[in-house]
Amino acid sequence: MSLSNKVVSDKHLANLMKREAERFRKHTPKSAEAFNRAQEVLLNGVPMPWMSDWGSPHPIFVNRAAGNRITDIDDNSYVDFCLGDTGAMFGHSPPATAAAVAEQVCKGITTMLPSEDAPWVGREFTRRFGLPCWQVAMTATEANRYVIRICRALTQRPKTLVFNECYHGSLDEALVHLDHGGQLALRCEFDSNPGLVRESVARVVEFNDPGALEAALSHEDVACILAEPVMTNCGMVLPEPGYHDQLRELATRYGTYLIIDETHTFSSGPGGYTAAHGLKPDFITLGKSIAGGIPVAVYGFTARIAERINASFGRRPVSDPMGIGGTLSANAFAINAIRATLTHVATEQAFEKMIAGANRMADGLEAAIQKHDLPWSVTRCGARAEMQFMPHAPKTGSEAKAAVYWDLIAYTHLYLANRGVLVTPFHNMMLVSPVTGDADIDLLVETWQNCMAELAAVDRRGS
Ligand code: PMP
Repeated sequence: MSLSNKVVSDKHLANLMKREAERFRKHTPKSAEAFNRAQEVLLNGVPMPWMSDWGSPHPIFVNRAAGNRITDIDDNSYVDFCLGDTGAMFGHSPPATAAAVAEQVCKGITTMLPSEDAPWVGREFTRRFGLPCWQVAMTATEANRYVIRICRALTQRPKTLVFNECYHGSLDEALVHLDHGGQLALRCEFDSNPGLVRESVARVVEFNDPGALEAALSHEDVACILAEPVMTNCGMVLPEPGYHDQLRELATRYGTYLIIDETHTFSSGPGGYTAAHGLKPDFITLGKSIAGGIPVAVYGFTARIAERINASFGRRPVSDPMGIGGTLSANAFAINAIRATLTHVATEQAFEKMIAGANRMADGLEAAIQKHDLPWSVTRCGARAEMQFMPHAPKTGSEAKAAVYWDLIAYTHLYLANRGVLVTPFHNMMLVSPVTGDADIDLLVETWQNCMAELAAVDRRGS
């Protein structure tokens, strides 16, 4: 990344970071203490690696999360635009979901039998997303894994095609990258898949490049394309006009299934990006927020696929269709949580409010960028927006990755956290919930603006 996109030199940034780290330490002594003690029993002091990736000297230890607020164990309050990286997209512990699960937890958690909520949930996803047949998994990762297995079984082909710099969960097939020569990387900078023989399970091409997609599909060894409709895990990459039509057409022409992963792009509306933009996937996968953050996910598919599954693999004396399912998957508790969330929380009115709020936020951020004449931009996807350290929206994952500057991300996030605002670690995603007020959005914009003003002033003094 060029210095002009970085805005300040590494040396200036390191000084600013030092100042913010000291400020952070001052108001989070109990979190620091909890972190020190946790190192004795947890790897690197956290129960899951991502929790230490916030760019702060130590993680904020949470006491309580409600609505769009998090309170830490030092009693600091934060306005939350990370929202559990989408798990809490509709606010933390939405009251209707909390009340329903409190009741259900006393009526049975898991039984290996369906409840009457299950067909309700299937019908509701059909109404929203269009696909007629649904199944339930625990996480979006798991939903993607099951769908890939089905596609491999039905096509008798080994490979999954994904887009460079995608993320779909901890799947061997999707943790792949292109190297600088545009080939499947055998090793890469952040090697998430050491030791895997990637060529046997994966193909990877750039998003928005139909020529590369066709060339990859022409080998006729690809069972499925796994795609987010908008790439959201490497900055944000929007599809170019007509790209989704090409994706659909090429998948059909080469006998490959098209899976649309709506886990993040559900932010586009009640039926996700699929309904908002009239996509025609073979499968949809969706997790994280659908039950207010209770771990559960779903996958849907066409009637033709349902028939093919049963004709090829299902309904034998004992149904073991391709290693799909899990002991706790589709338990009564989780399904009840989906029903309560879709009925009372993730409603059309909620989405209207979220999307209006996200537009207010993105307009404000764009005005701040313009005011301080910074070479940055904002990309939108319904209720979410991404601040990108590049002047124009990227067209590919590689372009988006080239603009990632970890130190600047860490610094800006710490600056915001020190002033009571949380945004998603790893990138600059901000999400607006139905309970996020205009004053919260204005606080975020003002805090970013102050941060930009200081960086621009340092830049102009000469860095
Ligand atoms: N799909 C997408 C698009 C995601 O961004 C993620 C996680 N960030 C997943 C799937 C996996 O979700 P989970 O970690 O909840 O399984």
